[in-house]
Amino acid sequence: MSSLAGGSYPPTLDDALEKDRLAQAIKDWTIANGLAVRPPPAVVSNNPEGILAMSAPVTLFPSPFPKGCFEEAKAIQTKYNELYARISQDEEYLSGLVQEVASGDEFIAELWKIHLRVKEEGYVQNLALGLFRSDYMVHQDGDNLQIKQVEFNTIASSFGGLSAQTSLLHQHLAKNEYPLLQNPISRSSVDLPANNSAEGLAAGLAAAFRAYGQSTLGHPTCVLFITQDGERNVFDQRHLEYALQSSSTTPDPIPVFRLPFSQLLTHTTLAPSSPTRQLLYHPPHNPTLTFEVAVAYLRAAYGPSDYPTPTAWEARYQLERSAAIKCPTILTQLAGMKKVQQVLATPEAVSTTPSALRRFVPNDEAAYAALWRTFTNIYPLDTTPAGQAARRLATDPDACQRYVMKPQREGGGNNFYRGAIPRQLKETPEEYWASYILMELITPPPVVNTILRNGVLEQGGVICELGVYGTCLWDQGTGEVLRNEESGYLLRTKGDQSEEGGVAAGFGCMDSCRLV
Ligand code: ADP
Ligand code: MG
Ligand code: MG
Repeated sequence: MSSLAGGSYPPTLDDALEKDRLAQAIKDWTIANGLAVRPPPAVVSNNPEGILAMSAPVTLFPSPFPKGCFEEAKAIQTKYNELYARISQDEEYLSGLVQEVASGDEFIAELWKIHLRVKEEGYVQNLALGLFRSDYMVHQDGDNLQIKQVEFNTIASSFGGLSAQTSLLHQHLAKNEYPLLQNPISRSSVDLPANNSAEGLAAGLAAAFRAYGQSTLGHPTCVLFITQDGERNVFDQRHLEYALQSSSTTPDPIPVFRLPFSQLLTHTTLAPSSPTRQLLYHPPHNPTLTFEVAVAYLRAAYGPSDYPTPTAWEARYQLERSAAIKCPTILTQLAGMKKVQQVLATPEAVSTTPSALRRFVPNDEAAYAALWRTFTNIYPLDTTPAGQAARRLATDPDACQRYVMKPQREGGGNNFYRGAIPRQLKETPEEYWASYILMELITPPPVVNTILRNGVLEQGGVICELGVYGTCLWDQGTGEVLRNEESGYLLRTKGDQSEEGGVAAGFGCMDSCRLV
C-alpha cells in the first residue's frame, strides 16, 4: 500500500529539545489565539470561577492530504447543500424513512411527533437555514484515491471556529518554526489552503438574520445560539459569534446571545396573542430588554441526553412552532439521519422505490454522477432482500469485520464496529434492527503524525477525516434557494487504533491539510 507520508514529511522528531520547543510554541499560540477548550469537569470543580482554558488537541504538522480529493470535496459542497435542502422539503419522503426506523428509535419518533404537531397548526416561518458539514475519508483502491462520504451533518456541525484557527496555527508554524528544525521544512514546500470556516458559517447566520427582516412588534432582532449545559467546546462557538458580530456592515452590530437549551422555556416566550408566533428572548441580566429571535442556531438538542424530561420536548416544540428561522428545522435535522444517507447510496437496481438520489437530482447528470462517486456501500438492515443480505453480513463473524453499524444518532460514540456488530444485534430484538444501517469501512492510506493532547506528545499512525462546511438558506414553501455556499473545511485526525474520531468525544484532534 502506498503511503501519503512519503519522504520525510511529516518529520518524526527525536530530539527532546526540538520537540519541547515545538510543543511550547503550540501551547502558547493555541491559548493566545483561542484554539482552546474548557477543561473537563474534574478540573473545573477546583476552579469554580470558570476562568480556565486549555489547548485543544492538535497535530504538530498539517497532515498530507491529496490535493485532488480536497478540491473534489470542496467543489461538490454546493450540490450537497442543494440536495439536502430538497430532502428537507420532501416531508412525504422523510415520513416514510422515519416510519422505517421509528419503531426501534424513540428519539426519532419524538422528533417526528413535534413536527406533526407544528404542521397541524401550520408553520409560520418558511425560511430554513442549514449550516452543514459533509465528512469524508480518502479511500485507497490500488493507486486510486477517492473521497468517500462518512456522513452528512445537518445539526450542530461543529469545529468551524477552531478549524480556521488550526489552519492559522499551522501557517504560523510553517512560516516561523518548521524552517528552524534540524531537518528543516522550507516555507515554499508546504501548500496550506486558506480556510474561512468561521467567517463562512457566520456569513450563513448573517444572511438568515437579514432575510428575517425587521420585527413587526418593534423589538430589536437577534441571533440566539442554543447551547448545551457545561459545554467545553465553547470557544469554537465563540469564534462564530465574534465573526458574526464583526460581520455587520452597518454601525449596529448583530446582537448575539447564548442560551442553554435547558433554559429555553425560562427565557423565551412566543409573542402573546400574535398568530405569527414571534420568538421573544428576555435576557436574564436585564429585565428591561426584549429581543425578537430572527435566527435560532442549535448547538444542542441533537441527541436524547439533551431531552432528560418532557419539558425539554416542550422547549423544542416552542422553538419549532415559532417564527424564528431555525438552524435546523426538525425536517432538516431528520434529513441528516444515517437512514437518508443509506437510501441515497442504494443503487437503483436494488432499491424498492425509485433511487432516492434520482428523486432529488432528477435532471442534472453531472451533479448526480459527482455525488454518486462520493458514496460508499451502505445497506439497510430491514426485511427487504437487500436488508436480508446485509443481515447475513452483519451477523457473520468474518464478514462483519469490514463494516460499521450506525443508529440514527449524532455526536460521536454511538456506532458499532466490526466484531461489536453481531454482539449488538444479538442484544437487539430483530424487529428493531431496521433502525440501524450497515456501512462499509473506508480505509484511508496510512499517514504518520504527532498529536499534542493534554500537554503530551503522541506519535504514530493516524487517520484523517475531512469535513467541508456548507451554508444554505432556502424557502420551504417555494423551494427557492437564497444562499448556497461552500464555507471552509475541517480536518480531524485520530490515532489509527481508534474507531471513533470526535474531538469533543475525546478521541480525535484538530488538524489542517498540507496538499500533496
Ligand atoms: P457521528 O454522527 O456520531 O459523528 P459518524 O458517522 O461520523 O457518526 O461516525 C463517527 C466516526 O466513526 C467517524 O468520525 C469516523 O471516524 C468513524 N466512521 C464512521 N463511518 C465510517 C466508515 N464508513 N469507515 C471508517 N470509519 C468510519
Ligand atoms: Mg454526525
Ligand atoms: Mg461524524
